[in-house]
Amino acid sequence: MATVGILALQGAFREHARSVAACGHHPVEVRKPAQLADCQALIIPGGESTAIGELMVRFNFIDEVRRFGAAGGPIFGTCAGMVLLAKEIEGSAQLRLGLMDIAVKRNAFGRQVESFEADIHVPALGEEPVRGVFIRAPYVTAVGQGVETLASFDGKVVLVRQGRLLAAAFHPELTTDTRLHAYFLKFLD
Ligand code: GLN
Repeated sequence: MATVGILALQGAFREHARSVAACGHHPVEVRKPAQLADCQALIIPGGESTAIGELMVRFNFIDEVRRFGAAGGPIFGTCAGMVLLAKEIEGSAQLRLGLMDIAVKRNAFGRQVESFEADIHVPALGEEPVRGVFIRAPYVTAVGQGVETLASFDGKVVLVRQGRLLAAAFHPELTTDTRLHAYFLKFLD
């Protein structure tokens, strides 16, 4: 059983804790960088990427999380978490970790469809689609070498992996399907 940190500065961190526990691992809400030392993996939740970024600066998380990722620590970012992991955010100079070689566009599915659900086919998880919950979601506009596209929806890339880093435009923690969390936690093996 691994200790999985969930960055708990803002956003949907409680739901991730439930998914991690359902996978048989130990979730910990992380509010101070020193806690990362006890974590074998980290989840950056959805919320507001600008707000989470500002809080990460205020509480000295930026360098610590960069170090955690650079040292091979698995990190899973969902929605705002995906935005924070990206190297490039279209049209924005907001703070980001820049750990993943991807470009993203925020709130990218348009105003008319702020939130929606759709079945997402994720071959790495098997035949049965994942129910994707999209809330003012980003999508990936460019991927660098070494980035694997795990799923697309409507021609847009919505799930990517780069080594032990995983990013989803949608919110798997808002469903009871834990396959994507389980996939991420296998990076620990
Ligand atoms: N639109 C938000 C952002 O770009 C993300 C929304 C979410 O995490 N549900 O920060």
